[in-house]
Formats: sequence, C-alpha cells, structure tokens
Amino acid sequence: MEINGRTRTCGLIGNPVEHTLSPVIHNTLAERFGHNLVYVPFPVEAGRIEEAVAGASALQILGLNVTVPYKGEVIPCLREVDSLAASIGAVNTLVAVPGGYKGYNTDMEGLYRAMVTEDIRIADEEIILLGAGGAARAVAYLCAVKGAQRVYLLNRTLDKAQKVAEEVNRSADRQVILPMALADFDSLPDRKFLAIQGTSVGLAPHVEDVVIDDEKFYARIHTGFDLIYSPWETRFMKLVKANGGQAYNGLKMLLYQGIIAYELWNGVEVSGADADVVYGKLKAHFI
Ligand code: NAP
Repeated sequence: MEINGRTRTCGLIGNPVEHTLSPVIHNTLAERFGHNLVYVPFPVEAGRIEEAVAGASALQILGLNVTVPYKGEVIPCLREVDSLAASIGAVNTLVAVPGGYKGYNTDMEGLYRAMVTEDIRIADEEIILLGAGGAARAVAYLCAVKGAQRVYLLNRTLDKAQKVAEEVNRSADRQVILPMALADFDSLPDRKFLAIQGTSVGLAPHVEDVVIDDEKFYARIHTGFDLIYSPWETRFMKLVKANGGQAYNGLKMLLYQGIIAYELWNGVEVSGADADVVYGKLKAHFI
C-alpha cells in the first residue's frame, strides 16, 4: 500500500505493545479491502492515557485497540461506552465519534465467534472457568449472556471469584456463576465439562506451568479452551488432550476481536475467506 495524504491511521495503545500481533490483523485486512489505512502500535507511559486519547482524537485517528494495563483506566477518557463494555468494565476498542471516542469490548464477542467456528456450545452448558482477572470476568459475562446453565468460577483468590460472581449474577438476574477456590476442584459435580482457561498461568516463557496440576481434574473436561495462544499448545491443553478431550488455544479469539474492531472502524463485514487469510498469517508466527 502506498502511504499518501489520505491515509487513515488506526493503532494499539498499551504498555508494553512491542510483541503485539494486531498489526498483522489490521494491515492484512486493509490490504484485502483496498482500504487506505495503516495500523501501528503506540506505547503509552503510565499516567498518560488521558493525554493519549485526547491526542489521538486531535490527530483524527480513526480507531484504537486498548490493551493491558489500560482496558479499565481508559473508560473515563471516553465520550461514550457501549452498554456491554460498561457492564464488563473493560474496553478494548475505541471508535472515533464527534469530540472523542466510543468504547467497545470486542474480546468477548471475539471469543464467542472463535467458539462458534470450532462448534463449541455455551448455551445450556455446565462450564468451568479458571481465573477471575480481566479476561475471565469478560468470559463470565459472555457465558451468562449466551445462556450457560452454570459456570463454576475457580480462582486462586476466592474473594475475586466471589466479586465477579456477584456482579455477573446481578446483571444476569440469575445465579449462573458459582465461585469456588481453585483448590476445591475435587468437589465439582461428577460429570464432563467445557473448561475455559482464563488465567495467565502457562503463558510463554513459563510454558511448563499450569493452574491445576492434578490429572483427575482433566478427566472431567470434554473440551478445553485456553485464552493463551503463546505457546501454541499450553500445558493445560496438553493435559486436556492426554485425558481424551479436545483442546483449543486463544489465537482465534485474538483474530476475531481484531476483525470485529476492524468492522466497527470501517463499516464493513469481513468474510470467512478473509478471516482465514489473516488467521494463516497469525498462525505462521507460531508454527
Ligand atoms: P489478569 O487480569 O492479570 O488476571 C490473571 C488471572 O490469573 C487471575 O485470575 C489470577 O489469579 C490468575 N493467576 C495468576 N498467576 C497465578 C498463579 N500462579 N496461580 C493461580 N492463578 C494465577 O490477566 P487477564 O488480562 O485476565 O489475562 C489472562 C490471560 O488471558 C492472559 O494470559 C492473556 O494473555 C489471555 N488473554 C487472551 C486474549 C486473546 O485474545 N486470546 C485476550 C485477553 C487475554 P488471582 O486473582 O488469584 O491473582
């Protein structure tokens, strides 16, 4: 693509941003659509998120992704916040509106689209969710909104699991999330579950770490979905497979959160064929 006087800019704000794969997603889509658009990372120093958002608006940057540690901190800097993102309390996509930006959460819908493409059901399922941090909180909302029958929310710090459960149950107006300490997994009902791994345990370079080490736990999982995609196959995924389950990593979640952001910025619909091309380029970074 030739950069010229009409080129629009999108980007990522966060800290750190050096290892991001988002430029692969957006610059490939811009090329496929023939859009005159570039996507670049913008590291933002601690305490400067408000300046960064105001500066981006002054420069007429079309859209931004927001990553760690600013997904919550960015909210007061926005003109509007989509109702779903507001209830999750996390924004990962900013779309230009007059005078500033509107915030969305495409992580959650991205995970949902990723699951749909893998034929993984949430509706009426009994689900184990590991973790109660920012990502797991969004997953808990997703499960509630998409009609999960019950979600056993297991976290190292029980208080945090209880807080997430209270918030999501109140918002869903039903007792769908059941908080538990990680150590209590043995008291789960004796049946097979979809398990979503939403902690940061096992992320490269700590590839041998896993949040629950006991093989007995993995015998209860028919499908394991790890939000981590680096390494390509986490120890959690290996243990699920070794015990007869299917296992998926989080790369398609990354893909679809990006695709949904691109669709919001450009008012287009990304085809399955274009999604496949982008996924192929992302995957090439791992295998
Ligand atoms: P976070 O807010 O920092 O939460 C971390 C979670 O991991 C907490 O539940 C924490 O438990 C748990 N944890 C950390 N160290 C632990 C340990 N040693 N033992 C047991 N539990 C431990 O992080 P996040 O933003 O939610 O991200 C979580 C993961 O999701 C990351 O690996 C990230 O890469 C991934 N992610 C992927 C995508 C994607 O597009 N695929 C998008 C977003 C996030 P405590 O509450 O007890 O501290």
